[in-house]
Amino acid sequence: MHGTPGTETPETTDPQTDVIVVGAGPTGLLLAGDLATAGLKVTVVERRPHGISNMTRAFAIHARTLELLDARDLADELVERGTPVTQLRMFGRLSLDVSGLRTRFPFVLITPQYEVERLLERRAVAAGVEFRYGTELRALRQDGHTVTADVTGGTDGDGVLRARYLVGADGHRSAVRRELGLPFPGRSVIRSIVLADVRLTERPGDVITADGPGDTFAMIAPFGDGWYRVMGWDSNHQVPDSAPLDLDEVRDIVRRSLGSDHGMHDARWLSRFHSDERQVPAYRTGRAFLAGDAAHVHSPAGGQGLNTGLQDAANLSWKLASVLRGTAPDPEALLDSYHTERHPVGAMVLRSSGGLVRLAMAHTPLQRAVRSLAVGMLTSVRPAAAKATGMISGVGITYGAPRGAHPLTGRRAPDLALTEGRLYELLRGGRFVLVAPPGAAPQGPHTPVPGQVIRASWASGARRGTLLVRPDGYIAWATD
Ligand SMILES: Cc1cc2nc3c(=O)[nH]c(=O)nc-3n(C[C@H](O)[C@H](O)[C@H](O)COP(=O)(O)OP(=O)(O)OC[C@H]3O[C@@H](n4cnc5c(N)ncnc54)[C@H](O)[C@@H]3O)c2cc1C
Repeated sequence: MHGTPGTETPETTDPQTDVIVVGAGPTGLLLAGDLATAGLKVTVVERRPHGISNMTRAFAIHARTLELLDARDLADELVERGTPVTQLRMFGRLSLDVSGLRTRFPFVLITPQYEVERLLERRAVAAGVEFRYGTELRALRQDGHTVTADVTGGTDGDGVLRARYLVGADGHRSAVRRELGLPFPGRSVIRSIVLADVRLTERPGDVITADGPGDTFAMIAPFGDGWYRVMGWDSNHQVPDSAPLDLDEVRDIVRRSLGSDHGMHDARWLSRFHSDERQVPAYRTGRAFLAGDAAHVHSPAGGQGLNTGLQDAANLSWKLASVLRGTAPDPEALLDSYHTERHPVGAMVLRSSGGLVRLAMAHTPLQRAVRSLAVGMLTSVRPAAAKATGMISGVGITYGAPRGAHPLTGRRAPDLALTEGRLYELLRGGRFVLVAPPGAAPQGPHTPVPGQVIRASWASGARRGTLLVRPDGYIAWATD
């Protein structure tokens, strides 16, 4: 899958850094923090000046993302500041109950995106990441050894940065994707979605309220600090993103969709946007990778974007770290596996969030009949509901396994009770964890080099098998 590196003459100067990460959104921040924690030199190039946030945007953090943050010792702090919700209200009667998920975090955490970014940036700074704010990537080229980025702006001024690898986490209009010459095929799904962060005089009955008669749709979710996120859509008022928006327009959509505007006032943020469904065909091109919104964008239904981006970053970071530290037995195969594992997940998220949005906005009699059928399935057919909950929360996402592999291979490891502590506490070292019965000599297809693996044993003497858990919490291999 790795593409042909550029045809340029090899750059003669040594790389100044191991990895350039373009974009200090959540995806770039998690990735940069992981790489620096693994002892690598990382430079983050961010177009925004320091201190200017991306605003609220995402507000739902799912269980699998919380597990990944737990493996970085950030989850408990985030959970303390947010609002846990166990019913994931999609629209009308469709609501998924996540309280039965077998995870330390059986809920969706409502918290603004800037809280997640604040924690990830703090961790990255502490690990020694070099940040170049106010600096934009303009051009990019690569040879067999190095990636070279032309950057402009910032305190260091215009210049050239060289690294062994580069990751484009630069959002949906990614300059890295453009420079790699990659298309971003797909289409716009919904236009003129309005957003507001407001205060309410009347609290809605449900924690998350979402509904609409078909020609309009609205959702209200609490941040837990007195502010609420409102999202609305009106099929009869489809205008460009640049059209002016005031709180009266939002109030009107919410009243028509939910029957009341709950006394909304004091909007601190108002925005109009459109939603695309697009995915890049290759997540890796030679020494350059794409992650997060740079690789896939989709409708906000189900709150998947930020979560999927953080999971991309967690999948890629340990692979890049292993290759750069020289501990990967087959570096090219390991780097290719980033695309092989994450591209299908991105495609699945495009399908599921697109399906949800079409159901929510169904308004012809046929569409509404299909919607009733789908809602019936998802609310009363247990396996369908469990599958949907597993996929949306991320805990049901699995990566493929080679033919004949143990059935646990490629599955997410739950937070196992071990003699040395919880699994996700042990994963905070950024290493593999080999779990075996006490005193057993572990056997398996591949054991990472000493120093890259922590040995642990089952807390329960009844457990006999051996598991090798990857640094991103997936099972590399298992034996009975
Ligand atoms: C209204 C709304 C609601 C959403 N709700 C949810 C939700 O509930 N749950 C969820 O999971 N997701 C949600 N999302 C999606 C989520 O916000 C994005 O998926 C997430 O921000 C993607 O993170 P990222 O780090 O990949 O990209 P971004 O957050 O877009 O970050 C990219 C960064 O790259 C920088 N950059 C861009 N170009 C360059 C360049 N050339 N040089 C240097 N820097 C550059 C940008 O300034 C930016 O800081 C929502 C999105 C919107 C718009």
